[in-house]
Amino acid sequence: MKLCRYNEGRLGVVDGDAIRDVTAALDVLPAYRYPLPSFDPLIANLDAVLSRARSVAAAAAPIPVRSVTLLSPVANPGKIVCAPVNYQKHLDEVRDDASLHHNVSMTMAPIQTAGLFLKATSALVGPGQGIALRKIDRRNDHEVELAVIIGRQANNVSAADGYKYVAGYAIGLDITIRGPEERSLRKSPDSYAVLGPWLVTADEIPDPGSLDLRIAVNGEQRQSSNTRYLILGVPQLIEYASAFYTLNPGDVVITGTPEGVSPIQPGDVITACIEHIGTMEVKVRAA
Ligand code: MN
Repeated sequence: MKLCRYNEGRLGVVDGDAIRDVTAALDVLPAYRYPLPSFDPLIANLDAVLSRARSVAAAAAPIPVRSVTLLSPVANPGKIVCAPVNYQKHLDEVRDDASLHHNVSMTMAPIQTAGLFLKATSALVGPGQGIALRKIDRRNDHEVELAVIIGRQANNVSAADGYKYVAGYAIGLDITIRGPEERSLRKSPDSYAVLGPWLVTADEIPDPGSLDLRIAVNGEQRQSSNTRYLILGVPQLIEYASAFYTLNPGDVVITGTPEGVSPIQPGDVITACIEHIGTMEVKVRAA
């Protein structure tokens, strides 16, 4: 199933070019009280929500996808885990271009040395909310990435078991200010993590290790690759991350960007597409 969030926090099932409002399915969620859990309640109870959504959807009138404002399909991830330089050709382009590496050695290191980093959860938006660029006197880049939504608690998981912990997939945009600072700072302004257009449950993705992904800016293609070129694939990233910290339901892992990163500016319109997931359009403005 394809599950989206839209407008003022409504829940929808995506059916072709239409959305069916299944907000009533959120009634199956337990009533959490303070202190709130460190996982995302919807993803932690995804099977129950999907089951109720299936029965609610049948009676819901279809709404055109284009008529709604799409939000992030995960509202409250505990963390956004990011893989730097996880495609060899992107590592090559970073090493070849001072405007990308800024002579920071850790920016040029392979992922096995550089490790993973986190984006602030406050950076998260959906495609309909757009990207508000800060520091527009500096280079701001798009990065298109396969995003993995963790479905259940994962701690010290082996790569062989990695896929068992995945709830679904989405498109992730890792918007980035280039410069010498820590990645977590440069990649965490509000709206610099775009997740969408919806969550596709894992059963609908035949092979996450073989998905075409691409991005265009104002209709001009900038990045086009396939997840088969990931240095660390989805299960390897889950092993790597969960060796350092527990992954909780709703945590998002963005798997890294292929070559072709390039600048964006206010007024641009980004179109990102991943095979078997869908296409999303994201507008860029000044903050
Ligand atoms: Mn990235």
